[in-house]
Amino acid sequence: MRTQHHPLRSPSSGTQRALHSWHFGSADNEGPHVYLQASLHADELPGMLVLQHLKRLLVAAEAAGHITGQVTIVPMANPIGLDQTLLYAQLGRFELASGKNFNRHYPDMASAISDTVAAQLGDDETANKRTIRQAMQQWLAAQAPASELDSLRLTLLTLACEADVVLDLHCDFEASLHLYVEAPYLDQADALMRYLGAQTVLWAEANNASSMVGDTRDGLCFDEALSSVWWRLRAQHPDAAIPMACLSSTVELRGQADVSHPLAEQDARNLMAYLTHRGVLSAPSLPMPVAACVPTPLAGSQTLCAPHAGVLVYQQPVGAQLAVGDVVAQVIDPLTGHTTDLRAEVAGALYARHVLRWATTGLDVAKIAGPTAFKTGQLLSA
Ligand SMILES: [Zn+2]
Repeated sequence: MRTQHHPLRSPSSGTQRALHSWHFGSADNEGPHVYLQASLHADELPGMLVLQHLKRLLVAAEAAGHITGQVTIVPMANPIGLDQTLLYAQLGRFELASGKNFNRHYPDMASAISDTVAAQLGDDETANKRTIRQAMQQWLAAQAPASELDSLRLTLLTLACEADVVLDLHCDFEASLHLYVEAPYLDQADALMRYLGAQTVLWAEANNASSMVGDTRDGLCFDEALSSVWWRLRAQHPDAAIPMACLSSTVELRGQADVSHPLAEQDARNLMAYLTHRGVLSAPSLPMPVAACVPTPLAGSQTLCAPHAGVLVYQQPVGAQLAVGDVVAQVIDPLTGHTTDLRAEVAGALYARHVLRWATTGLDVAKIAGPTAFKTGQLLSA
């Protein structure tokens, strides 16, 4: 294992943060390249522990000569957010200086490099893949980060943009294990969801109008910024043979408090099985697990909101399979006793709940993975 340090732009005199990356396998290896990072939202910690377990397994695999591809790991993707302790609470979702979400506002690299690669693209998929990856690297290297946050984004993209698979490890408040993936990669994501035991897979359409963040002018999520390069360039250069060369997924490793050695060990072993399946490791493949769910559209996910303030009492556990009309939670006004039942309006898995038990008016209380798209525009919170 090789370790690299990547200094970020200093935000102020006398302080400077850095990213650290671990690298397994040689760039000459024939097998695929998989990139993993943990805790881009710095208050979402299960992935950090999973990567500790994965590192131990990969070090053993490397010693046994079993690494036939490459693995890049960023074990702590957001040192800025990790430093945000406020009144004893750990924050880390938004940069305090700008209010910006650490997992939004990534650049549309397809548009950035489209003109540069146009004359070099032909009918050779392998050559085109190389050309596009080189162009991304050159474009990223040419950017002058205006801030510490910019330098964090550019460094993470630089480490990830040549990978065949990018796994961005997050978690929700209280949740079952679920994935976000772009629709053109659903076929590639099938093995990933099976090996990880995903209980829900949410796919987003590959077009600007209904992408996860709505409009590329507002920037993209980290995973979208990497996977969308390929379908966007395909659309811009329809005569060129452009492969779908980066399966990128946000992996929600359950809830914020699901940080335990048994879960992390299980997730790390599942990742090792997936790496073996992909040809990154040379160990014998484990049988393909049965899928635990059928992917559903992100635009079909219902978010239940609190219509008034009150004590929040859940009636269903995360992972419950709901029918339309099932009561998911109650909101109880402590002064009047007025109680509102929050009911499922779509049938599907209750894949996430809030961690709070005091609901303010409008609070997003729970999310249900419905089978039919009914929303357009921005599908994720800002
Ligand atoms: Zn997150």
